[in-house]
Amino acid sequence: MRQPLIAGNWKMNGSLDSVTALVEGIKAGLAPVTTAEMAVCPPFVYLPAVATLIGGTSISLGAQDVSDQEGGAYTGEVAPGMLTDVGCRYVIVGHSERRSLYGESDVFTASKFAAARKAGLIPILCVGELLEEREQGITEQVVSRQLDAVIELEGVSALADAVIAYEPVWAIGTGKTASPDQAQDVHAFIRGKLAVLDADVAAKVRILYGGSMNAGNAAELLAMADIDGGLIGGASLKPADFLAIGTAANR
Ligand code: PEP
Repeated sequence: MRQPLIAGNWKMNGSLDSVTALVEGIKAGLAPVTTAEMAVCPPFVYLPAVATLIGGTSISLGAQDVSDQEGGAYTGEVAPGMLTDVGCRYVIVGHSERRSLYGESDVFTASKFAAARKAGLIPILCVGELLEEREQGITEQVVSRQLDAVIELEGVSALADAVIAYEPVWAIGTGKTASPDQAQDVHAFIRGKLAVLDADVAAKVRILYGGSMNAGNAAELLAMADIDGGLIGGASLKPADFLAIGTAANR
């Protein structure tokens, strides 16, 4: 059975004080969240502080991005090994904000995915279509293309221990959630595509849904057969909401 994962993407939000309060709030309510794995992805600069705060708990640490380089003259970048050094287990790659605001391509995202794995991180690979792509009926082609970049570089087996996050771009931060059936259709498509290449990988890989998941809609999304958790933006900044999503993910 795939262990559900609920990962909070805090984006560029918070201060040392607010991040501390957020973690303390999550820790205080964590006990009833039993089977789902909870992870938080703070901004880079707060990773060491959050690592200390979550020490001794079951909460995992993740980063929001990573360099595709191991180190050297890359001003402003953060190497994968630096993330493991400060206690990260996960790293988000290819978030739609990286793709759309910073022009990160499928190939570049795949090279980040590869660099993360090489350093022992678990990449959370984000895929998903724009609204116009959904309206054109090319959602599956877009998601396929994004996955193929990784499969071509790393092979399908690289996805077995990774996490895929299906995040329809039109649902991110907009309050518009994909319906459980819409999300399940794409999740099933992803798993089916992988199954053609390797049935074991398809059975093992965790596929999260992301896009305005909140305490009110999480249960019906997480009840779908191929939805193995969530990548949560806005609702992960409120301990009670984040914990409620974690509880909804219990199996
Ligand atoms: C995200 O940024 O990955 C995300 C899913 O954001 P939100 O939950 O705010 O839509």
